Amino acid sequence: MMELRDVHKSYRLGEHLVQALRGVDLKVQRGELLALTGPSGSGKSTILNLCGLIDRADAGDVLINGIDTHTLSEKQLTIQRRDTIGFIFQSFNLVPVMTVAENVDYPLFLNGVSAAERKQRVAAQLKAVGLDEHAQHLPDALSGGQRQRVAIARALIKRPTIVIADEPTASLDSHTADQVLDLMRERGHAEGAAFIIASHDERLTRRADRIVSLLDGRLQ
Ligand code: ADP
Ligand code: MG
Repeated sequence: MMELRDVHKSYRLGEHLVQALRGVDLKVQRGELLALTGPSGSGKSTILNLCGLIDRADAGDVLINGIDTHTLSEKQLTIQRRDTIGFIFQSFNLVPVMTVAENVDYPLFLNGVSAAERKQRVAAQLKAVGLDEHAQHLPDALSGGQRQRVAIARALIKRPTIVIADEPTASLDSHTADQVLDLMRERGHAEGAAFIIASHDERLTRRADRIVSLLDGRLQ
């Protein structure tokens, strides 16, 4: 579903080159929740940005659903990103002036899906994350854990093959973080979407199907 083969990535920092990834091989299977752990600066966000097609590797291959991303133009990459990838953020990134239902609906609205289909799909997603009773509330009225549930529903609404989550539980208490991770795993299994989650907190990642540990741009 997603594969990195001997991927290298550096960033230019003034005169210097920072080597963020030094030959990473990684395969993500359908429906699995993969946790990427490792200390700050080990390359977790860099891997997520490559998997999310936000950035390109310097060397090595990135494949999504069997397509080698080297062969895609910027425009095709944008389409792949829009249609096959969902994103979840540490700070939730919900639109504060939109209700919970409108936040979840927004990606479908942008894609021109019919109103009737949108209504049905949004209701199903909100029910699946246990927020149907909050559909008409604004994000401000929700707890952190509930907001991240909205973000999970929004990330899955377009039926992506992969959901990318960078430190999704960093602003939650540990009990809520466990619940949110369990929900991600359960929803990923149900929808056949892989979740790739970066977290520097190894304790949280125990709830993953598989854990991959990074150090200095290499898998351990
Ligand atoms: P993590 O998410 O594990 O904290 P990152 O992938 O963000 O690690 O960073 C890996 C390395 O790349 C670090 O040394 C970091 O300082 C460097 N890095 C990340 N992004 C940039 C950037 N835009 N410019 C320069 N260096 C960067
Ligand atoms: Mg990071």
